[in-house]
Amino acid sequence: MAQFNKDVVILGGGMVGLSIANQIKEKRPELSIIIIDKENELGLHSSGRNSGVLHAGVYYEPKSLKAKVCIEGAKRLKNWCEEEKIPVLNCGKVITPQTISLDSQLDLLYKRGTANGAQISLINEYEFKKLVPDGNTSSGRALWVNDTCVVKPKKIIELLSKRLIEKGVEILLDIEVLKYRPKEKTFFISKKSKNNKKFIDQISYGYFFNTTGLQADKVAREFNIGKDLTILPFKGIYWQLDPKAPFQFKTNLYPVPDLDMPFLGVHVTPDPDGIITLGPTAIPALGRENYKGLGGFELLKTLDFLGDITYQWIRNTGGFRKYSYEQALHGIKPLFVRAAKLLVPKLESNHLIRSNKVGIRAQLYDKREGILIKDFRMENGISSTHVLNAISPAFTASFSLADLILENSNLKL
Ligand SMILES: Cc1cc2nc3c(=O)[nH]c(=O)nc-3n(C[C@H](O)[C@H](O)[C@H](O)COP(=O)(O)OP(=O)(O)OC[C@H]3O[C@@H](n4cnc5c(N)ncnc54)[C@H](O)[C@@H]3O)c2cc1C
Repeated sequence: MAQFNKDVVILGGGMVGLSIANQIKEKRPELSIIIIDKENELGLHSSGRNSGVLHAGVYYEPKSLKAKVCIEGAKRLKNWCEEEKIPVLNCGKVITPQTISLDSQLDLLYKRGTANGAQISLINEYEFKKLVPDGNTSSGRALWVNDTCVVKPKKIIELLSKRLIEKGVEILLDIEVLKYRPKEKTFFISKKSKNNKKFIDQISYGYFFNTTGLQADKVAREFNIGKDLTILPFKGIYWQLDPKAPFQFKTNLYPVPDLDMPFLGVHVTPDPDGIITLGPTAIPALGRENYKGLGGFELLKTLDFLGDITYQWIRNTGGFRKYSYEQALHGIKPLFVRAAKLLVPKLESNHLIRSNKVGIRAQLYDKREGILIKDFRMENGISSTHVLNAISPAFTASFSLADLILENSNLKL
């Protein structure tokens, strides 16, 4: 049995785990850090499967943690990409009211965004059409967000992990944790691919970070943290705009979101490689890591499931249940197209190619209160910090979010 003794152990090598390691190394390069992930490569979950949009801080309630770290985090990540010569598409974003009743939400978003320090302006139909000739504004108004840009998330994960290794961070992949002993600041691991579980190693640490995304609530419970919290997985499937479609997009086109829900709605996003995607849906997923496409059978089961088992305890969120039903139906292409037509009226089914990109959001739910947690959430346990709700814009904000997590942890740097 091998034994590792590290100052800091980070379980989960997504963008949040990598950023925490990065920020610790900035402040205390001499600390020994190991990142442990269960997969045989990094970026197989949210951090490698998201829209790649670096958000500009518009949507979030001004006193929220999201508002606190989004703008600064986006600037830092963008600068890092530019220094590292990773492509960044500086294309901005237009937020449009897809129905007339949503027009007044533009004023609310403008107020929130301005309070957060985002560079935004309300635009008229003429300005809108110059930016998105094939888009639709139901009211003749829209919001222009200047600083939004788009990156390739996997490239960032690959290079950031390489840079961390160069700074002395160890990364162990393909690992299963067999037993946690939080009081003794230790746990036991095995290589997943080895059937013989005798190949067990012991990891001891000074401080432990749980950044396991979709599994974070389960890991936290091993430390007696978050017993009323559970993660609900929401699947985001994407479509790609056929390059032969009679229109193209040079900027992001987003709908006005339902601000009571933690998702931003299906949007049009161009990326640095010239690919234009539409999505993601927010379909309640059957399984936290069930990335397979949503076929008819899964859809039926999802709807059944929604009305029945898991969501029966979503007591105070009737609106959420209705929203989930609508979202589940977006798994069917003609219904997805019908919803997307509110943004792009000329869109037809034959303009869309199914993208192999599918992501699953790790949305935290408070069972006792019956609410979806909208803001980031982290909790400290014995010599440990558990990042329980690292939803969007956690990718955008990652460097600044990592600083915030460290400031609120019990790790003295
Ligand atoms: C469809 C979709 C679109 C999104 N779009 C955007 C966007 O445009 N902009 C934005 O800012 N954010 C976006 N997000 C959100 C963003 O992707 C996440 O907030 C962010 O990636 C979370 O990073 P993470 O490190 O917490 O989680 P993850 O990336 O999920 O990383 C967790 C890691 O932990 C590992 N792990 C899990 N359990 C264990 C275990 N028991 N032992 C060891 N390792 C374990 C996993 O293998 C994984 O590598 C989107 C998310 C989705 C799903």
